[in-house]
Amino acid sequence: MDSRKVLVIYTGGTIGMMLNSETSALEPFDFEHLYNHLPVLQNLNCKIESYSFDPLIDSSNMNPKFWIRLAEVIEDNYDDFDGFVVLHGTDTMAYSAGVLSFMLENLSKPVVFTGSQLPLGMIRSDGRENFITSIEIATAYENGNPLIPEVCVCFENRVFRGNRTSKVNAENFDAFISGNYPSLAEAGINIRYKRHFIRKASTEHLKVHKNLDEAVFILKLYPGINPAVTNAVFGIKGLKGIIMETYGSGNAPTDAWFLKALEEAVDRGILIVNVTQCKEGSVEIGKYQTSLDMGRLGIISGKDITTEAALAKLMYLFGRYNDRQKVAEMFGVSMVGEISE
Ligand code: ASP
Repeated sequence: MDSRKVLVIYTGGTIGMMLNSETSALEPFDFEHLYNHLPVLQNLNCKIESYSFDPLIDSSNMNPKFWIRLAEVIEDNYDDFDGFVVLHGTDTMAYSAGVLSFMLENLSKPVVFTGSQLPLGMIRSDGRENFITSIEIATAYENGNPLIPEVCVCFENRVFRGNRTSKVNAENFDAFISGNYPSLAEAGINIRYKRHFIRKASTEHLKVHKNLDEAVFILKLYPGINPAVTNAVFGIKGLKGIIMETYGSGNAPTDAWFLKALEEAVDRGILIVNVTQCKEGSVEIGKYQTSLDMGRLGIISGKDITTEAALAKLMYLFGRYNDRQKVAEMFGVSMVGEISE
């Protein structure tokens, strides 16, 4: 069997930094000479090619235009490779993996996001393991079928569904969690694939959606939120959707002014989605009296979706459908495994 081909797409971030021994400065990894820097890659039964963005970005500078370019790189190379590894800063990786999971409809090949907490070029770097495991995941096929034909995040020996992840640690190597969905694979001595939790490859042609609508906002509730803040947010010109991060199982203040502000916003056509600030568990409208009004006001339950995936999904849905009702209907159902049914 021919060896598999993987395209490594370098967007920037810590993982790609090497130490220049002459200047002692960290500088971007030279993927043209990948095998010279990481000769161990020759032992993997695959061919690696690379594509580097120019300029490379720290992922704190991530934006929808970049996501579209990233999706295009995958689209342009889709037929020529068996899998893709996206090297990406950790700060916004969960957002990027989330949005790509919606943009790449009918995916049938692995798209593996990875990064690291320490640059590749540092002795204790976690980047080397993350990179190598990601290449293995991107090229893992059985009987001609990819084992993880999903947009996923590979970090610190675990592979998660991309749209289920959140970055939760700025210090430790295990920086990501997938609070509401099990890992798809775990890498120990062997890589154990949890087939039962992995989506099936699509049999349709890849369709890349390149319209993302930025007219959305994330409103995190906090004790002390007041009418001035709320009205300023709901009054943003052209705003189409709000992801409202509520407490616990979807609870919010029951003050009359707050409920009135929500009601008026919904009446003006703003779609409000209720997601929880908790990293595990789900919104359950009506569990407490403090969430009862959410249902009555026509606020959509985000169920157990992450804030990152909710933002990605709203941008994608408003980019695709110019119809609030359609977006509202689609939001509540799982499209690519981002919500538990
Ligand atoms: N600030 C960096 C980034 O997200 C951190 C990292 O790479 O992990 O690009």
